Amino acid sequence: MEPDVVHDIVREMWNNEITTKFIEDGILSLEESECNNTTLAIKAFMDSIRILCLDILGKGATLIPNFNVHTDSSIFNNTMSWNNIRNHLMEHKYHDSSFGQGKVVITPYNCGICYRVDHPRGICVKASTGLDSTTCTKS
Ligand SMILES: [Zn+2]
Repeated sequence: MEPDVVHDIVREMWNNEITTKFIEDGILSLEESECNNTTLAIKAFMDSIRILCLDILGKGATLIPNFNVHTDSSIFNNTMSWNNIRNHLMEHKYHDSSFGQGKVVITPYNCGICYRVDHPRGICVKASTGLDSTTCTKS
C-alpha cells in the first residue's frame, strides 16, 4: 500500500459533515481574533495531511504496512480542542477494500535513539545517517 492510497483514505474519512463540525467547533472555541476564516482554516488543515510510510519488517522479513499521519494542528491553539478532534479522528474506521481495516494508535513507538514517538528504534534514520527521520525512505 502506497502513501498516496493512505492519504486518499484519510482525507475521504475526514471529509464528512460530522468531522467538519468537530473541526469547526474546535476552531470556534478560539478567540475570534485567532481565527477569522473558519472555511480557509479547515481547508488548510485538510491540505496539511501528510502520510509517511515506515518500513517495518515482521517475521520472514515481511513488510508490515505502517503509516504516520501528520497534520498541521496549529489552527487549534487550544490543547483540549485538538485532543477532542484527534480522539474523534481516531474513532473513524480506516478501511480499504484491498487492504482491510487499519488500526489507529497515537504515538505507538518511542525511539530509544532520537526519542521521537513516530518510529521504532530499528528503523531510526538518525542511527545510520545522523539525520532526523522526517521523510519516507520506502522506494
Ligand atoms: Zn529514532
